[in-house]
Amino acid sequence: MGRTQKKRKRVYLQVDDIDLPMAPYQLAVSNLLPGDVEAPDWTSGTDAGFDQFLDQRFPREKFVEFRRALEGPNMLPYAAPSSKIVNYRLIILTRERWRAAAHINSIIASMTGTKRSPLRICEFCKNLFLARRNNQETCSEKCASGRRMARWRAKADEYESNRQRKKAAKEYQLRLELKGKRKSETQEKGGVMRWLRS
Ligand SMILES: [Zn+2]
Repeated sequence: MGRTQKKRKRVYLQVDDIDLPMAPYQLAVSNLLPGDVEAPDWTSGTDAGFDQFLDQRFPREKFVEFRRALEGPNMLPYAAPSSKIVNYRLIILTRERWRAAAHINSIIASMTGTKRSPLRICEFCKNLFLARRNNQETCSEKCASGRRMARWRAKADEYESNRQRKKAAKEYQLRLELKGKRKSETQEKGGVMRWLRS
């Protein structure tokens, strides 16, 4: 009991001293689309073709939450009654800005050697998140174990390809040695014959 409490306490000591709310609205909005999905701006501003564009790029069955948010209430309180496009543009703009901020913050921190920003991109699922500890690279325990597994697999693959390479090199070496041995044997034989003939 005492031991686990001590352990837990140590984890909490690494909490960043900035008291940020853990899931601000902007993060949730940004994460409505996965990090690797490209979302171009809808510049025409009219409804024509927008539904088709959505169905092609973001099929309902794959982007459930995103489509629900688009069709939900206006995300901007002063938007026009028909708000699907407004919602779309708000989501992609928020997402772009917040993701850019995470990228830029991390570049600046590594360039200047200063403290890293808690606004980060999960190394496993690529969602935006706020790190509670400085060494936190994933948004959740699930992603942490996914990342561990992926790293382990990459290491195992590397080990296996190294093993194959070493094996092939060894076989090649053996073949060379065998060839050399045969050559010297025939040379030896020739020598004996010459000696017998002389
Ligand atoms: Zn994640």
